[in-house]
Parts: sequence; C-alpha cells; structure tokens
Amino acid sequence: MRFNRLRLNGFKSFVDPTDLVVAEGLTGVVGPNGCGKSNLLEALRWVMGENRPTAMRGGGMEDVIFAGAATRPARNFAEVSLLIDNSDRLAPAEFNDSDILEVVRRITRDAGSAYKIGGKDVRARDVQMLFADASTGAHSPALVRQGQISELINAKPSNRRRILEEAAGISGLYQRRHEAELK
Ligand code: ATP
Ligand code: MG
Repeated sequence: MRFNRLRLNGFKSFVDPTDLVVAEGLTGVVGPNGCGKSNLLEALRWVMGENRPTAMRGGGMEDVIFAGAATRPARNFAEVSLLIDNSDRLAPAEFNDSDILEVVRRITRDAGSAYKIGGKDVRARDVQMLFADASTGAHSPALVRQGQISELINAKPSNRRRILEEAAGISGLYQRRHEAELK
C-alpha cells in the first residue's frame, strides 16, 4: 500500500493546512528540534486509527488539537487526511471503485473522532481493518518511533512476536477471530 499525501489541519503544531507529499522511494523529514517531525509521524498513525493517547504523547485524545500559541488562539478541531494509491485494489470491495482512496479522521472538542473512507462515514474499526489487512497501520513496524529500536532489543519474546505478526500481515486475521469468538 502506497501513501501519496498526508494533509494536516489543526493537528498539534500544524495549525494551518499542511501537505506532506510522499514521493516514490524513501521520504526523509529533517529539521531542528521541536519543528514537528515526530508530530508528522503521529498524524500518520492517528489517521490510521491509533486510539492510545500515550502513543500521541498526550494525556487525552483531544491533546492532538492545536492548543494555541502566543499569537494564535486554540482550535476546536483537528483533521488529518491520507491519500492512498489503491490502483492494486487492495481495499475492501465497498471502497474499491477508485485508484485513489482518501481516508479522513477528524476530532472535535467534546465530540470525539469521526472517520471517512472515500467520502463515506465509517467506524474507527473500518479504518483500522483497512490498514491491518494491508500490513501497515498504526502499529506498523514500518513506522519507527524515537526510542523504539532500543525497546525492540529489550522486548519480551511475546511482544517481539506481535511485531513480526504485524509485519507478516496477519494481525487483521487475529482481530477478526477475536471478534468472531465474542459473537
Ligand atoms: P525532535 O527533533 O526534538 O525530536 P521534532 O521535530 O520531532 O523534535 P515534535 O516533537 O514533532 O518535534 O514537535 C514538538 C512541538 O509540537 C512542540 O513545540 C510542541 O509545543 C508542539 N505541539 C505538540 N502538541 C501541540 C498542540 N496540541 N498544539 C500546539 N503545539 C503542539
Ligand atoms: Mg521527534
């Protein structure tokens, strides 16, 4: 699954709409400390359905909304949009009618998160499953957080196994089995 463009609006330090165009090959983000490099990766995880505030370095999910600065008032919402190249038709049938798929997550203060795939309102789970099946997703080993390499080296075998399963693209199947067992 290839990402074409990440768009942030009101997400953390990215108060004005900002596009990160992901070209073919390796994409690097460089800049001084505190300029927002980690925030960009967090936006990518967030739009794929990350729901742990700690993974966003926050106490609550609303902490991703631009909190204001000396010259700018705080915002009431944050929105991140991700354009995916779907020319290989990896998405589930209901979303599979176009080459480019847009996934949008928006959080509004006191109203929580809303998700869209290809313009249709969907649940968080639909977004999470879309990426889990393509072996990417919020917990993908392709996204390496600061400090994660040393965590991996020190991880318990069971945690290391989870990371390998995610890389192998079978975590979506585990999720479905778990839900089937609950029914
Ligand atoms: P480093 O090189 O140190 O890792 P970085 O480029 O990864 O830095 P980030 O951690 O992505 O930088 O950005 C941190 C900045 O984002 C801080 O200035 C912080 O104040 C700002 N920030 C985080 N959350 C919000 C928010 N909700 N509203 C406004 N600014 C925020
Ligand atoms: Mg950083």
